[in-house]
Amino acid sequence: MTASAPEQQFHKTNPLFAEIVQQTADLVLVTDTRGEIVYVNPAWERCTGYSSEEVLGQRPSILSSGKHDRAFFQRIWDLLVAGQSAQEIVINKTRSGELFYEEKTLTPVRNQDGQILFFVSIGKDITRQLQQEDKLTYLTHYDPLTDLPNRRLLADRLEQRIQEETPFALLCLGLDRFKSINESLGNRLGDELLKQTAERLQTCLPDDATLSRSSGDEFLVLLKNIKNARSAAYMAHKMIHELERPFDLGATETYISASVGITLYPADGQNSDQLLNNADIALHRAKQAGGQNYCYFTDQLTREAINRFQMENQLRQALLHKEFYLEYQPRISLVDGHLRGVEALLRWQQPDGTRVSPAEFIPQLEEMGLITSVGEWVLHSACLQASQWQQAGFPDFKVSVNLSAKQFMQKDLCQIVDKCLQHAGLDAAFLELEVTESLMIEDLKSSVTMLQNLRDMGVSLAIDDFGAGYSSLGYLKHLPVNTLKIDKAFIRDLAEDVADAAIVQAVITMAHRMGLEVTAEGVEEADQLDLLVSLGCEEVQGFYLARPMSAERLQTWLVEPKEYSKHLLPLGLY
Ligand code: C2E
Ligand code: MG
Ligand code: MG
Repeated sequence: MTASAPEQQFHKTNPLFAEIVQQTADLVLVTDTRGEIVYVNPAWERCTGYSSEEVLGQRPSILSSGKHDRAFFQRIWDLLVAGQSAQEIVINKTRSGELFYEEKTLTPVRNQDGQILFFVSIGKDITRQLQQEDKLTYLTHYDPLTDLPNRRLLADRLEQRIQEETPFALLCLGLDRFKSINESLGNRLGDELLKQTAERLQTCLPDDATLSRSSGDEFLVLLKNIKNARSAAYMAHKMIHELERPFDLGATETYISASVGITLYPADGQNSDQLLNNADIALHRAKQAGGQNYCYFTDQLTREAINRFQMENQLRQALLHKEFYLEYQPRISLVDGHLRGVEALLRWQQPDGTRVSPAEFIPQLEEMGLITSVGEWVLHSACLQASQWQQAGFPDFKVSVNLSAKQFMQKDLCQIVDKCLQHAGLDAAFLELEVTESLMIEDLKSSVTMLQNLRDMGVSLAIDDFGAGYSSLGYLKHLPVNTLKIDKAFIRDLAEDVADAAIVQAVITMAHRMGLEVTAEGVEEADQLDLLVSLGCEEVQGFYLARPMSAERLQTWLVEPKEYSKHLLPLGLY
């Protein structure tokens, strides 16, 4: 390319100055007043990939990336020809097609007469710097493990929504028992599990939902356009369901479950902090209720807290004023139709006559730490009553007493039981203790020891509500118990539901093989009784046979003719 007049003029400058320009790390480009390139320095060549020869006489637009419109360059040009300088960040394209960000200053260069001779652009490639800043913003707003927005970014989005004042739902999902799963898998697989969880959640959520990982095993979901509480629950259910399939983590399949806390804007909080906090609380509740479940926050929580407080006071009064008493529900033998035993059931009648269900107040007594003393009273009273029946000449039957988890964990339980038996003058053979499965699962080893000690004393043991909880048949063989009480949930639809019938049949067969007896709870209809007879169940309990009743009522009940007895024929076959 032949050098034009302005080019020659440019090269006539001070040689030292030329050397500085040649060697600087800044990108230097000079054009003539027509905008044609007359000089580029080696730093410019290195950055753009073009050689000086290639670009002399060309326009700087050869670097155009297409990222700026015409007006952008026109504005710069207008400033320059007006004799002013311009500062811009320009996105350029190298010879090989890569984009780079150039932060540059463009200045007109004049001669002594003030006439513009050249335009000089001195710039820096700031691509790397921007990438680092990007990374920083990324790190402050995203979770690097799952690439999901983090809690902070989600909180920003919540605030935006709140500004718009349209209803939405904020869901907080937590993995149940993640801590122990993570410990057993190791951190690497634990991370992998979280990644896969994030992917699955993402696929089952609507496109306009924001999914975020807030911490550890907790995910937050912002759901727009949520009309009512039920549609939020639908999404919660969908997410929980999505995580039920096993996870493939290489060697083994891993199963997890999740719980969800639900908050609704504007009902459950006025700002993002409140909503996030309340979603956490709701999640905590869902987990406490056993997990794999969802829970609303709502004011109900507050209401419940107030109710709890009231009930606490009432329970303390109840203890003082002896508002507790026992009822006894017969357990009937299907072998001979006789009374095998009675289950002592705790009752609470308030001074105004209100009866509160034990399912409601027993957990409360547990929480208050009062269940052990109330439980001891139950044990004591039941033993005394059994002994009185025996002394009154009634046929021998057992009395069974329910033990709560806290009682079962008492170190001196055996001594307490022994004391009650001694005091009542009751033979241990006439006492049965009922415990639930969930109670054992926590600490199988010490449970087995406790059960064994009780059995050594001569007390019978039953697993209550069998099938209702975790029901692991595997551990059952370790438990030194006498009886399985099949949960009433299986008995309810026994006559209609083939699956329930199959389960009950299987439990009876299995229990018999293991030398255990079976009691069916919650028998309400003749059909159920007939079926249980045919399935070989040896004992039943339920409203169809007899409701829980006072000790006095039981005495008259014993001698009354029984409607159910015709269903127990022909029983001699056993
Ligand atoms: P559970 O030990 O499974 O007791 C049987 C429950 O089923 C009793 O409820 C009884 O009234 C009810 N039931 C009996 N037959 C039928 C029937 O045919 N249909 C239906 N639907 N229900 C029937 P209740 O008395 O309300 O007691 C509930 C639970 O409270 C008991 O379940 C037991 O876990 C606990 N509980 C009761 N008394 C005590 C106690 O003294 N100590 C402890 N720790 N727990 C107790
Ligand atoms: Mg029971
Ligand atoms: Mg039960």
